[in-house]
Amino acid sequence: MELGATICLPRAPLCLNCPVYAMCSTRGEHATQPRAAQKSRPAAYLLSLRKRGVITEVLLQRRPDDATLMAGMYELPPLPQDVVHGREPTIRLRHAITNTNYYVQVFAPRGSKDQALRRAVPAARADLKWVRASRLNQLALTGLARKILQRLEIMSITPIRLAEEEQPAHDAKRQKRLKGKLKSARS
Ligand code: SF4
Repeated sequence: MELGATICLPRAPLCLNCPVYAMCSTRGEHATQPRAAQKSRPAAYLLSLRKRGVITEVLLQRRPDDATLMAGMYELPPLPQDVVHGREPTIRLRHAITNTNYYVQVFAPRGSKDQALRRAVPAARADLKWVRASRLNQLALTGLARKILQRLEIMSITPIRLAEEEQPAHDAKRQKRLKGKLKSARS
């Protein structure tokens, strides 16, 4: 039983039914810490894909080892807001981390000649890494990066990959949809 959720309710505690009544020095209504206000923030990320033969790779950025949150994990390279102004995102989604709601937009280059987004990535070259789509499941990705890559069907939800001839029909359809997305985002 969760005492705080069922018996010791801050505004109306059920003290007479409480199993720890004898030990409690509060007994009765008590103040609780106010919840931190929810904040909203925009966030933009680059989706850069490239093909090497039949292999698809995605550009990721490693977070600093001294980052307050998710240190050393991989994410899509963040983009400054002013760079993406007026561009249409590939995908929009909302993602909550602690008390902040992030309104996330992901942008892919408009073709191999569109280098503006890639040049705008503030990260050092050493922090960027091309990773095979088939190996994303083995990497320490942030929850947001995982969510984006799975929604775009670049990363499979299950790590098991069947041989091509064993893939069910819906996988073939998924591959076809992915090919369309890759075509517009490919370098
Ligand atoms: S007796 Fe104390 S712990 Fe139990 S419900 Fe009342 S205030 Fe909460």
